[in-house]
Amino acid sequence: MNIDKHSNQNNPEIWYELANMNTLRSWFGQTKKCPACGRMHQLHTRMMEEKPDMAHEIANYLPELGLKGTCLVVMDENTRDAAGNALLEGLEQYHPQSIVFTRPDLHADEQALGSLLTALSNRPDFMVTCGSGTLTDITRYNSFMTNIPFVSYATAASVDGFASGSAPLLVNGFKSTYPAVAPEGIFYDAAVLARAPQKMTAAGFGDVLAKVIAILDWRLALAAEDEDYCPLIAALVDRAAQDCLDLADDLVEQEAMTDQAFDNKGKACTRLMETLALTGMAMQMMGNTRPASGAEHHISHLLEMRDIQMHRQGSLHGDKVGIGTLVSMAMYLRLFQDGQMPRQKPTLDPKTWEKEVRRVYGPLAGHALAINPSQPPQGAEWEEQKRQLVWAMEHFGFANVERFKTLLPIARDKILAMGGPAYPDQLGYSVQDTYDAIAFGKEVRPKFTTLRLAERYGWIYDLAEDFAANLPTRSTY
Ligand SMILES: [Zn+2]
Ligand SMILES: [Zn+2]
Repeated sequence: MNIDKHSNQNNPEIWYELANMNTLRSWFGQTKKCPACGRMHQLHTRMMEEKPDMAHEIANYLPELGLKGTCLVVMDENTRDAAGNALLEGLEQYHPQSIVFTRPDLHADEQALGSLLTALSNRPDFMVTCGSGTLTDITRYNSFMTNIPFVSYATAASVDGFASGSAPLLVNGFKSTYPAVAPEGIFYDAAVLARAPQKMTAAGFGDVLAKVIAILDWRLALAAEDEDYCPLIAALVDRAAQDCLDLADDLVEQEAMTDQAFDNKGKACTRLMETLALTGMAMQMMGNTRPASGAEHHISHLLEMRDIQMHRQGSLHGDKVGIGTLVSMAMYLRLFQDGQMPRQKPTLDPKTWEKEVRRVYGPLAGHALAINPSQPPQGAEWEEQKRQLVWAMEHFGFANVERFKTLLPIARDKILAMGGPAYPDQLGYSVQDTYDAIAFGKEVRPKFTTLRLAERYGWIYDLAEDFAANLPTRSTY
């Protein structure tokens, strides 16, 4: 099936009715032909369950997944206290062994990946991750390499990576996506999620908010570069993210937490967790990260890589992604102000571009230069892309920009109310760090996003300068 990219079939809204948990559950553990795009979508994950005291209940679910024998529980010191010790009790019949990471700034890098690999020397039959994003990424790559399956016990609704089939690994300091495997099942407990540090829940909200930009970037990438796209998957993510925006009030930690408030927070965290897991599964089904990651993630990845380079204590993924999302919304508003396409300005010459990439990426510049063209498309190629972008903006883009006018201040206030950061300086980033991330986040991946759009119209460097200077004074948003 080859759908014309201008067809209304590509509008996620017409798939909203099908875009729900039932559809997703019908895909569990299966490869099925998609009614929307005609592709075969594969979903490895077979189970997603919430239950009180899940740490002690989990063993009841594992036979259905065909898991037996012995297991290894992967945790860090915090998640061991939050649920890991209880999990070891609950998994007793599987003679669980454990590996506990103690590094204060844990990353899915060569050292952590190798530590887990050596802990697998007596070949457990399966692994159980007890934690959130980083521990799951360390596990999923090892699972892929060793064929030892794993399930995920989520301790915080902090990131959408639980269900993903790929892993962002830090290799030689560069954050790249590696093939990996998704968990067989995802398990969680509302009370454990509600007790997770508030900043982790705020980060999860930031990672959900990101989908607003990710989906728009994806649709524009279909228009400009004919990128593979599925409107049903876009609808699944879009709808879940919309629903989640309403949860923000219940996710806020209150001073005196009554039983009722704690209960509400547990319910809201469960919904947030479901949405995060759903977007992870959307990535599995698409076979890439596109349904959940756009310009906002590229800004975040660059900030993170530079933190590591400079040996700075990092922050949560969703914190930087949330900021990247607000910045990207502000960028759309500026590029398309007054409902017009941006005026064409000159783009950067390849020599200056290379010099700047070397300055920003330092020792990682070689990789960035190798994966990116030294110049945006020119001449007839760009003229055609522009025609497609005009079409896309008229059909759905401008409507999104209108939406951002109200959504941007609301999203900012919700993040702040949850105790998360909305501005780069709240995470300690300087004006220069901020400029570099906005201006050169695009080189993290050679993909079409808001940042590329701004680059092609010649606006990116001016906007980055303006935003970097005015974010600390709170005058950008
Ligand atoms: Zn599809
Ligand atoms: Zn993310």
